[in-house]
Amino acid sequence: MDCLFCKIINGSIPSDKVYETDTVLAFRDIQPAAPVHILIIPKKHIATMNDVTEQDGAIVADLFTAARHIAAELGIADAGYRLINNVNNDGGQVVYHLHVHLLAGKKLGGLLS
Ligand code: 5GP
Ligand code: ZN
Repeated sequence: MDCLFCKIINGSIPSDKVYETDTVLAFRDIQPAAPVHILIIPKKHIATMNDVTEQDGAIVADLFTAARHIAAELGIADAGYRLINNVNNDGGQVVYHLHVHLLAGKKLGGLLS
């Protein structure tokens, strides 16, 4: 499949991994919009939030649970962080494999930075 994040999952494209489970992978964004900018993705290819079904409920929960683990591991849980999911063109989605942005490391102002 010609999907950038599936290639990161299967290792054919390298990434700076920060967290991994059977169902979820998290790695640093190549163009960080904040001091901490991590992408949390399901290992199952789901193109957008529009394609999430009731059967994917556990996967969606795993994305948020991963965020909690990462925040704790990086020591940013108390200071705070932001989770963002862009959907389709108007939402600013560029990579069509479901992902949650975890942004942190400074007082965030606007939508992305
Ligand atoms: P979107 O705009 O689809 O919500 O976010 C896609 C994100 O993927 C962007 O923040 C972009 O910087 C990041 N990205 C694009 N290509 C790569 C890559 O090859 N490696 C990593 N680590 N991040 C990427
Ligand atoms: Zn994919």
